[in-house]
Amino acid sequence: MTTLNKIQLHKPNVQAISTTEDEQFTFCENCEQNIERFFYYDEDCGWRDVHWFISGYNPNTGKVCA
Ligand SMILES: [Zn+2]
Repeated sequence: MTTLNKIQLHKPNVQAISTTEDEQFTFCENCEQNIERFFYYDEDCGWRDVHWFISGYNPNTGKVCA
């Protein structure tokens, strides 16, 4: 894959979402991969959430305060 720097929009299947304390898991209706997202605290930005990303890949947590 040479598209690592592009933002890949996944379409989470909302009915399949399972939630833990600070993570959610489901699969993508577009690419049918397992995807997940999580929430974390950034000392500069406060609480952030990461866009859905394919499980096993490092999410892009580039610091861009919303
Ligand atoms: Zn996808």
